[in-house]
Amino acid sequence: MKVPLLDLKAQHQTIRDEVMAAVTRVMDSQQFILGAEVEAFEQAAATYCNVKHAIGCGSGSDALLLALMALDVQPGDEVITVAYSFFATASAITRLGAKPVFLDIAAADFNLDVAQIEAAITPRTKAILPVHLFGQCAEMAPMLEVAKRHNLPIVEDAAQAIGADYLPFGECGRAGAMGAIGCFSFFPSKNLGGAGEGGLMTTNDDTLAAKLRLLRVHGMQPKYYHQVVGINSRLDALQAAILNVKLTHLDDWHAARQRNAARYNELFAQAGIEAITPPVERPQRRHIYNQYTIRAARRDELMKHLHAHDVGCEVYYPVPLHQQQCFADLGYVAGDLPVTEKAAREALSLPIYPELTAEMQEYVVEQIAAFYAQS
Ligand SMILES: *Cc1c(COP(=O)(O)O)cnc(C)c1O
Repeated sequence: MKVPLLDLKAQHQTIRDEVMAAVTRVMDSQQFILGAEVEAFEQAAATYCNVKHAIGCGSGSDALLLALMALDVQPGDEVITVAYSFFATASAITRLGAKPVFLDIAAADFNLDVAQIEAAITPRTKAILPVHLFGQCAEMAPMLEVAKRHNLPIVEDAAQAIGADYLPFGECGRAGAMGAIGCFSFFPSKNLGGAGEGGLMTTNDDTLAAKLRLLRVHGMQPKYYHQVVGINSRLDALQAAILNVKLTHLDDWHAARQRNAARYNELFAQAGIEAITPPVERPQRRHIYNQYTIRAARRDELMKHLHAHDVGCEVYYPVPLHQQQCFADLGYVAGDLPVTEKAAREALSLPIYPELTAEMQEYVVEQIAAFYAQS
């Protein structure tokens, strides 16, 4: 049996006609950048994310950069964040000349350890940038409490978490709706993936929304009059039209991923493999399982075994951001973020996509059990 990490072709087959109709509509209109398709998607995304404003942009990386620009992050400022994330979380900070202050994560959910924030705040701290990693919201209630006390905005990196909920906040606890600005990615492998690059920023603040809209078009308003120096980062109509189709299926896909996660949990419990730990779903969360990430002893050998037996799997993330070569001048050394570094050694993400079958999942678990049984 072959079990890929992700099978976008399988998903496309289920929505092919709807997607192709949307593509044809955009091609016939020959209107490619921003415009009505993008506005329609922004409306739908704002409703879905339960926010007042949703603003499309070129990628999740740009969403983070634009968010920090809108909050006026300057050279010399500090932004508190995690080192256990995709690179863009930190590069958005350094590209503005600011300094990422990397805190450790909580072992249970791989998200920012909120207890460490207060001690890391200095007079130069400009914002807090948590990541809702793998599709599960970070611990937002105590984070917002600290942020409020210090008058600091929170930028949520929700690139992996569209539709995830932090239930203690009820209706207001959707990813991207809790901080000052939420940032999303439509990279094809995300739960809501486009046919190319795309991103989105969400906010309930009218002033920030206007700034974000201005910054994504070179600060230009009206045409050829530049109020500020922004960047070129627009969502295109083809992406918006496709994303609008996919958004109507997103909750079904989330439900299928949750069903698959529950099935893995059960299979792992039955198999009783001591060398692995399934992901922890925190109480009061709606986890959307952009990744199903286990911790595994002898992880790299296990990964090799799985690849050799046609099971797709991937390490997110093998090198934490504080240990990346390009951030060497920040002065972190091995051991500074022990929980992060341990996660980087142990984490392994398994196939969890909606179209995965029970048979495929049984095969994955069998292969993991076989690896530990043989050695
Ligand atoms: C995917 C991702 C990004 C970047 O999004 P792009 O659209 O690829 O630029 C940022 N942060 C996290 C946590 C991501 O997973």
